[in-house]
Amino acid sequence: MKKFCPVCGIERDTEVIEKEEVSNIRGDEIRTISRIRICSVCKEELFDEDLDEENIKRAYNLYRERHGILSPEEIKSIRERYGLSQRAFAKLLNIGEASIARYETGALPEKSLSNMIMLLKDPQNMQKLLEKNGDVLTYREKNRLLQKLSRIMEEDTKAVKIPGELYKMLEEKARKEGKSTDELVEEILKKVV
Ligand SMILES: [Zn+2]
Repeated sequence: MKKFCPVCGIERDTEVIEKEEVSNIRGDEIRTISRIRICSVCKEELFDEDLDEENIKRAYNLYRERHGILSPEEIKSIRERYGLSQRAFAKLLNIGEASIARYETGALPEKSLSNMIMLLKDPQNMQKLLEKNGDVLTYREKNRLLQKLSRIMEEDTKAVKIPGELYKMLEEKARKEGKSTDELVEEILKKVV
């Protein structure tokens, strides 16, 4: 890709190099290997919007991992589980609709908000929030969520419950066989059914 190099003063061939970078995210030092475009002739670093976005994303993901913050995909999937629009979800959480859109496309939410959304994975908690804060929703939004909630809860009660002791044994066996517990349980059930 050719780009204008301000040092050479003309358009030059460019190349992408990898470089360790330290970024400061909310007071936290995050070290990442960033990909940076440079002028092939004088090696000056040139701004590349796409690479810059990727680099920020990489640093944010590390920060998320370190602090247990939900990823954009997780936030979206929790919202969609309840069939909520971004607008309705934002109202329930008392934040702006634009913020939800940003969190779902890569912006970093505060830990407290992330925790709150994480708790909403549990339909019981969503129901509690709806009881407390449901007035912010329109009649239609509220009804839709209530219907969705009762369907989810119905499905949950149909799910097989495994006693704790037995589950521990299954976990142990799964670990020895290098599988996830869910995979092992599914395998066993398939043999029986
Ligand atoms: Zn140059």
